[in-house]
Amino acid sequence: MSFSGGSFANSNDKGEPGDFEFHAPLFDSELEAPEQDPLQSFIEQKAGQEIWREYTPSSSDNIWTFFQNQSLSELDLIDLFKVDKAEAYLADLEPVETIRYQLYGNNRLARLSLTMKSGETVLLQKNEDSLFALSINSGDQLPEFKTFTGEIQGSLYQSARKSGVSTSAILQFATIFQWQIDFNKDLRAGDHFELLIDDSLKNSEGFDGNILAARLYQEDETHTAVRYSDGQYYTPEGKMLSSSFSRYPLGKKSRISSGFNLARKHPITGQIRPHRGTDWAVPVGSAVYAPADGVIVKAQKNHPAAGTFIEMRNGRRYVTRYLHLSQLNVKTGQQVRKGDLIGRTGNTGLSTGPHLHYELFVDGQAVDVMTAKLPTGEALQGDALTRFQIATHPLISAMNQDQAETLIAREENLRPKAD
Ligand SMILES: [Zn+2]
Repeated sequence: MSFSGGSFANSNDKGEPGDFEFHAPLFDSELEAPEQDPLQSFIEQKAGQEIWREYTPSSSDNIWTFFQNQSLSELDLIDLFKVDKAEAYLADLEPVETIRYQLYGNNRLARLSLTMKSGETVLLQKNEDSLFALSINSGDQLPEFKTFTGEIQGSLYQSARKSGVSTSAILQFATIFQWQIDFNKDLRAGDHFELLIDDSLKNSEGFDGNILAARLYQEDETHTAVRYSDGQYYTPEGKMLSSSFSRYPLGKKSRISSGFNLARKHPITGQIRPHRGTDWAVPVGSAVYAPADGVIVKAQKNHPAAGTFIEMRNGRRYVTRYLHLSQLNVKTGQQVRKGDLIGRTGNTGLSTGPHLHYELFVDGQAVDVMTAKLPTGEALQGDALTRFQIATHPLISAMNQDQAETLIAREENLRPKAD
């Protein structure tokens, strides 16, 4: 590899941040994309074309960038805009919380569901004439729901499918509790689950709506989640289920020497060299902290491009990476909590000066950490909490009732038989 105009420093060079104009983003392409969440891979394999994919639009996204990012056919984009009233929902993604979609063929859209921040759900689905039709669930009143219960025997996938839960709902379930439970290893045989799933779009074939409430009974703990009108999941006490996710893995805000830019031109050669991360110019030895709870996938030294680096999975959908470090404070496989010291910045690997190169992947896609939508982990208080509890009470009590029945049934099984 040749590179003119700059000089690459060798591993472990010490120094103050200098001129980063020449910081070449060449190494980005040399680290492969992180591996998917094993549960996601497994379900994709099992469900094939039936898989519902999920996408959380960032503040810089629009429907066009979404289509581009997901490599969807432009023909479908054109057809979507032909649908009466569809433009009102597609023209601006700001009010959209989550996009889910199902494909056929390579890149053709079978169904597209928009979950709005207002709680509304919009479904666009192709009919037999290959035209999209639109249906809306306003989310105003307590929606009709279907209850699914089951016991974990074998994998989550097998157990939930046995109870009639769709693959889409299984992934939703694993996403809702992604900060509490690692579904790849924390489930035990005998754990019980209960799901209330929105059934008001039931006429739309193949689609099952959002999970409205979910509960997982484990041996020593019960996790409960309920969906509120903002599309987020909370505990019955009004605490958001997500971990809070910091935008900055460094102790203090530092200068961005090179931002996320998929169309960046090399300053000397003029070639397009995408930069799939954010660089902060900081002195060697600056502390790097976990931005959210997670598990270390890789903590490795001497990578020719990345130098000393860390890859971390945060929840089910996020992966973060930290390159050119001088020191590792964690090991592969280790669990970390938000705020834990994981390493120190450096100038190792292919790096032209001391800095941290930080990458964020959401659902396997490299995104700009400065604009990505990140979970906040807030707790409702005061009037907001009261409104939340009034609104969600029917769902919680619908589950409690079933729980009571389950417990009675279990107790009856345990009771010694009278002779
Ligand atoms: Zn970089």
